[in-house]
Amino acid sequence: MNGCSEVRNALGSYVLGALDSGERSQVEAHLADCPACRDELAGLAGLPAMLGRVEESQLDQLAGPPPELLDGLLTRAAERRRRPWPRGRRAARWAPLAAAACLLLAVGALFGGFLLPFGAEETAAPPSSSAPPSPAPSASGGDVERIAAENPATNIKGYVLLRRKQWGTEVELHLAGVPKGSHCRMLVIARDGRRDALGSWYVPYDEGYGEYRGSTMFPRGQLFSFEIVGLDGQPLLTIPT
Ligand SMILES: [Zn+2]
Repeated sequence: MNGCSEVRNALGSYVLGALDSGERSQVEAHLADCPACRDELAGLAGLPAMLGRVEESQLDQLAGPPPELLDGLLTRAAERRRRPWPRGRRAARWAPLAAAACLLLAVGALFGGFLLPFGAEETAAPPSSSAPPSPAPSASGGDVERIAAENPATNIKGYVLLRRKQWGTEVELHLAGVPKGSHCRMLVIARDGRRDALGSWYVPYDEGYGEYRGSTMFPRGQLFSFEIVGLDGQPLLTIPT
């Protein structure tokens, strides 16, 4: 596994811890020397956390890529795994996640990011009579924190809703004033300077209003700011936390 494309095909499995140790060290050796693939990896960092709150039934209903593309992805993923899943409970739990990861990778590839459009969970969730659907409040509490910001120079304003999770922080972004046709990315900056990519999207509406969901491994206490940037990296809006 030496080329960038091979490594990138394996990154989803890498993030999910689904590679064997040999493949894992090959990926890590490549990442050490390849900034482009490290960037790609940064974009996947929130994937395990996101998978944790996507129900299988919702995956079925996501507007996804054509089935033949999905089949190809899943087949390739299976071929790359020279060994079958190790027996045991852990494997049983991770197998559907790996399949889900492939689906999300495909969806992400088509739509340019890993942010699920706001509302996908609500509209896709089956009616529930007893247990509430995910996201359920975590042990650390289900309180939602709202932080707003505005950039007078660009007339872009928005706010994030933050929910503390055991795996990090769930982020819901509401954004208005972005020019139609813009491509945006959302980054989170931690207090120690680490950066995490939350996703990217295209603005198809005149009003430039959109709602996006993402997740980061950083706990709420480590968050410094959210940065909304354009495709070329120019800052659109900073939301300090
Ligand atoms: Zn590379």
